[in-house]
Amino acid sequence: MNYNLLNTPIDYLKGLGVNRSDLIKKELKIFNYKDLVNLFPNRYIDKSKYYKIKDLPKFSCDVQIIGEISEINEIGIGRKKRLIAQFTDGEDEIELIWFKSLKWLKKSLLINTKYIVFGKLNFFARKISIPHPEIELFKADSLSKRVKIQPIYPSTENLIKKGVSNKVISNLMKSLLYDLKLNFKETIPDYLIKELKLLDKNTSIYNIHFPKNNELLEDSIRRLKFEELLYLQLQLLKKNINRKDKIKGYNFSVVGKHFNKFYNEVLSFELTNAQKKVLKEIRNDLGSNAQMNRLLQGDVGSGKTIIAFMSILIALDNGYQACLMAPTEILSVQHYEGFIEMSKLLNINIVILTGSTKASVKKEIYKSLNSGEIDIIVGTHSLIQDKVKFKNLGLAIIDEQHKFGVAQRSKLWAKSAIPPHILIMTATPIPRTLAMSAYGDLDISLIDELPPGRREITTVHRFDSNRLSVLKFIKEQINEGRQIYIVYPLIEESKNMDFKDLMDGYESLSREFTQPKYQISIVHGRMKAQDKEFEMKRFENKETQILIATTVIEVGVNIPNASVMIIESSERFGLSQLHQLRGRVGRGIHKSYCILMSGNKLSNESKLRLKTMTQTNNGFIIAEKDLEIRGPGDIMGTQQSGVIDLKIADLISDQKILIYARKFARQILEEDKNLSKEKNNKLLNTYNHLVKNKDLWSYIG
Ligand code: ADP
Ligand code: MG
Repeated sequence: MNYNLLNTPIDYLKGLGVNRSDLIKKELKIFNYKDLVNLFPNRYIDKSKYYKIKDLPKFSCDVQIIGEISEINEIGIGRKKRLIAQFTDGEDEIELIWFKSLKWLKKSLLINTKYIVFGKLNFFARKISIPHPEIELFKADSLSKRVKIQPIYPSTENLIKKGVSNKVISNLMKSLLYDLKLNFKETIPDYLIKELKLLDKNTSIYNIHFPKNNELLEDSIRRLKFEELLYLQLQLLKKNINRKDKIKGYNFSVVGKHFNKFYNEVLSFELTNAQKKVLKEIRNDLGSNAQMNRLLQGDVGSGKTIIAFMSILIALDNGYQACLMAPTEILSVQHYEGFIEMSKLLNINIVILTGSTKASVKKEIYKSLNSGEIDIIVGTHSLIQDKVKFKNLGLAIIDEQHKFGVAQRSKLWAKSAIPPHILIMTATPIPRTLAMSAYGDLDISLIDELPPGRREITTVHRFDSNRLSVLKFIKEQINEGRQIYIVYPLIEESKNMDFKDLMDGYESLSREFTQPKYQISIVHGRMKAQDKEFEMKRFENKETQILIATTVIEVGVNIPNASVMIIESSERFGLSQLHQLRGRVGRGIHKSYCILMSGNKLSNESKLRLKTMTQTNNGFIIAEKDLEIRGPGDIMGTQQSGVIDLKIADLISDQKILIYARKFARQILEEDKNLSKEKNNKLLNTYNHLVKNKDLWSYIG
């Protein structure tokens, strides 16, 4: 099968006029034969069964009946006009109903002639009908020749409106595959086909569009999904290998005095097994001669910071500097203070650099960073400015990376003779399958256990109309000495209204919780950095009991005495955001609560999100639900979605095949990392083709 033929525009297909072909191009983005072959059905309808009317299911579903039309009537007027045909199988009767193309139907439908009718059952006033059925004359060879398993292709409202039905697409596919007798080249080596008992390419393509039977269909789907995921994984893993080959890293060969002193004299608790495992993975990377590019995933509160700090100590012990970059000023300050606290007994020099650092101080920092007097610098985006020059940056840690783009990450690289080791920490759990695919070029470490003694956060959903009981609860908690977060959404598009909500909330709360007994802090995006910090400090020092905020506190804030998180208009937050916010409580010894406030009117999606939150505290389950609700592209943001543009496999439901494909991709590359062995010829050709064309499926011929 040659690529040129596959590039033929669909206009050349039999029976496809200009109008329809333009419509298909526009609606389905199908321009040539290749695109069409790669239009895989969404689902299949079983047409192997024929019903007697008396045996029809009592619920709405697709059925197929053989019978005759006994009479046809046009009833109603104007837009209610419809055609009703009485359809009988010789014993019982149902109605076939049409609202469109009445003239044409009336002319062409024949009385007392055998038809096969297919469509969805409708029950109304004790009558059974099929609206807009597919209808086909029954011929002697109908039963043997008819498709038994019918594919249903993706479609759009516009296509259906303009008469480009599933049947039209199916016919195009037929003329493409059968009239042209296309023959597809195998892309998977024989030894794999044999070992994995895969169907060959050609049979798979034919059967996915025109399944001969269920077994062949299943095998075809499995084979094509595996192929897609195998090449996806080969690509990602190869990228990773190439990077390690090409990019040398600093070799941190010793674990020295800072690390040991910290471990033996400062660290007051035992690391969890997950933390130990992750630390080991990082240490291996740091001593491997290749640049580390590692993603450290762990649910909120799983103890990533300690891991970051200990990794930094390794860098210091080897004579290098380290930096930690956080997405907000508040977080930077928290990290800075945490680091200062942890380095009490160590003789190291830590500074903080943010947008609000005074100019004179900044100058001083630039100088001593360049001279090597500073060991660790913590800060915001400010760290990636050109003015910031290190003497020898060996390790860069990025906290909560979803706020940083890839471009910003690579700016850090440029700050050092050899790119520094990079550790990216995120508390937004990425489902395993997605991480494997989107982050295939990073190595992944996972902290999958929380420090002991953590108690589940009780999460409830309350309607705004029940606010009184919530206020009562807040009072009780404050009287017990606890502190409360109240978070308002602030979304760019509705900024002014959101801001008003926040201020209104603040005012009515101030009336309810009066000074001097109660003190309330407020923090939002319109405040100056110093003012924000001041308010946060008051809350941290327990001078105020309530902190009202927009999502500025979303990530990382650590105030163990706060035990209640109230999220206003929670229906407007995404799942991962809700989970992040909830993670601000439950950090101390006190029983903690998360209260999701919402209006009474909720969309199904919002309901599902709130329900998920009340049902589980597990970030990974939440992430999977999120993936289900929103789809992968959305979660990763645009920069990564290109990597996972899958046509037939699904990252959630095909997890098993994905893991399988990854395993084989890894095996293949471990044995033959350039795919240069004879037996991997097909892999190499296909791989090269797909890298060149940046399209997983353009190699299909
Ligand atoms: P996150 O992963 O959300 O960044 P942190 O690193 O802020 O979590 O840790 C949350 C809290 O748990 C901190 O107060 C930290 O000191 C504590 N912590 C971390 N690891 C352990 C451990 N192994 N045992 C007990 N407490 C721990
Ligand atoms: Mg953190």
